[in-house]
Amino acid sequence: MAVRKVIRMGHPTLRKVAGKLTKQEIQSEETKALLQDMFDTMLEQGGIGIAAPQINVSKSVAIIQINPDNDRYDVEEEVPMLVFFNPEIEILDKTKQGFWEGCLSVPGLRGYVERPQKVKVTYLDIEGQKQELIAEDFLATVVQHELDHLFGKLYIDRVTDREKLMFEDEYLTFHQDEDEPEID
Ligand code: ZN
Repeated sequence: MAVRKVIRMGHPTLRKVAGKLTKQEIQSEETKALLQDMFDTMLEQGGIGIAAPQINVSKSVAIIQINPDNDRYDVEEEVPMLVFFNPEIEILDKTKQGFWEGCLSVPGLRGYVERPQKVKVTYLDIEGQKQELIAEDFLATVVQHELDHLFGKLYIDRVTDREKLMFEDEYLTFHQDEDEPEID
């Protein structure tokens, strides 16, 4: 159990495609310890999701947990802990929706990103069993943000209007009320 260092944009691990795990690896003690470290690190940083590459482990696993009590986010829906191993994403509705995104690996910045509003994720759970999740609205954006980390992508790659990429202080001062809740 430990809070790990979150690596930042520029670290090569963030630009690699993360390696898939076998069912045996998913069920291993090593992976349980990794998940615990990811969870501890996410909580300590006040995030709502984290991917293994963000703590410099190039493995295809990400977690999401959205708690409406978290003061940093103006969200109503609660999402209990989700753990995705080897996820693949399929777009179900390519109509775009925009949110202000942030990232523990890009500290101090916010950017407005438009992404498809409905996706299906196929993944393995902590037992190594195949699962599917259909995510819409805010959760669809959170899922796409976290899973992007497993494919070497960062949200800033998807900011199309560069005037909507800015420092957090300026975001809070000038733009906070413009749109929807932000994510990390
Ligand atoms: Zn991120």
